[in-house]
Amino acid sequence: MAVLFFDHAFLPQGWSTGVRIDLEGGRIAAVTAQARADGAQHCRGIALPGLPNLHSHTFQRGMAGLAERRGDSEDNFWTWRQVMYHFLGLLTPDDIEAIAAFAFVEMLESGFTSVAEFHYLHHAPDGRPYDNPAELSERIVAAASATGIGLTLLPVLYSASGFGGALTSDGQRRFSNSLDRFLDLAKRAEASAGKHGFEFGVAPHSLRAAPPETLKGLLTAYNSGPVHIHVAEQTREVEDCVAWSGKRPIEWLFDNVRVDERWCLIHATHTNETEIRLMAESGAVVGRCPITEANLGDGIFAAKAYLEGGGLFGVGSDSQIDIDAPGELRQLEYSQRLGHRARNVLSTRSGSSTGRELYDRALAGGAQALARAAGSLAPGELADIVVLDSEHPNFAHGSADRWLDAYLFTSPANVVKDVFVAGQHVVRDGRHRDRERVEKAYKCVLARIGDI
Ligand SMILES: [Zn+2]
Repeated sequence: MAVLFFDHAFLPQGWSTGVRIDLEGGRIAAVTAQARADGAQHCRGIALPGLPNLHSHTFQRGMAGLAERRGDSEDNFWTWRQVMYHFLGLLTPDDIEAIAAFAFVEMLESGFTSVAEFHYLHHAPDGRPYDNPAELSERIVAAASATGIGLTLLPVLYSASGFGGALTSDGQRRFSNSLDRFLDLAKRAEASAGKHGFEFGVAPHSLRAAPPETLKGLLTAYNSGPVHIHVAEQTREVEDCVAWSGKRPIEWLFDNVRVDERWCLIHATHTNETEIRLMAESGAVVGRCPITEANLGDGIFAAKAYLEGGGLFGVGSDSQIDIDAPGELRQLEYSQRLGHRARNVLSTRSGSSTGRELYDRALAGGAQALARAAGSLAPGELADIVVLDSEHPNFAHGSADRWLDAYLFTSPANVVKDVFVAGQHVVRDGRHRDRERVEKAYKCVLARIGDI
């Protein structure tokens, strides 16, 4: 049995010093505070539970920075999507695996220890399924397994291009499936994830891409496990949904399906007070992707009202424009500060640390959304641990919750020292164990594709 020892650790009951963690089969078997390091692997620093990344499209890492040129008209989410469709048409299965592996390495080095991959790229560029319909899902599983990140695989059902069941366009042919074809693909993808001990769920892409009958069929076939959906990301999406059904997307969802703890509502940016209340009371997690949402110009989420209503949330790196675990929480808080013209908007108690509250909540929401037994350094949980460099100047004047404030708000690039996932030591001294090889393969893909 391996034993780790940390100078400081963030435990469920609070901060402790001299913490021994006994590991067994990737899980935490015992935690002892104010212990001695004898016989243990001594990791000098501040141990935190690793943050789950609840929303990712790994292939988009390869186009980060390629959609920052102004177009002929006003650029928005929909013009960005055209660039994305063009880019994904260029990728082979090997490319997709190489890009995913690189994104996972960056996630691990930034402090994410697990990821929910919202995987919608299924077919060859001409739209034909591969001989193995789950080929690309298996490439994601292979990349996760090689890099050691914890994975919740979410194959995406995408069967229409607009509300009312409009046919998919050429740009969407790599991800379009009928329900039956998707269920076959998902069965194979689930078996592949299970072989590696990964979690599995399903993801109707959005209400515009999963018409009511298809959504119903999917939820009948999968009546347990995580369900993730993009919802109310764009004002145009809200307007189109109202034109189609007379209801706003979140309102429609709550009227037509049972939204509960299984659900993760990605973005949920454009809401009214009723929708905020429905989401907060449902037990579902809202999946915020603040850096991507800022990059795409999506809008500002009513986070303060949602948290005051008891809502659960987690964060995701979504488009991978900037893979930065603490940065997602920082951007979430900063979007609120700009909107409310106030500071420390998302801490709910007077005198409490904003960093601590955000981190605590994102751990719980993320673990629930990924159906992963992680999120706290407690017996029975997976040993997903991030160790911050306590020698870094940003931590010199602080202790306890101040460390979390420094981690989230001062954003040093090199503050994560070690990372363990299910007890595996995947990042040492800030560098992933396989970075060199993975980075080289990634650069080869990008060099071949060139500018787009
Ligand atoms: Zn997304």
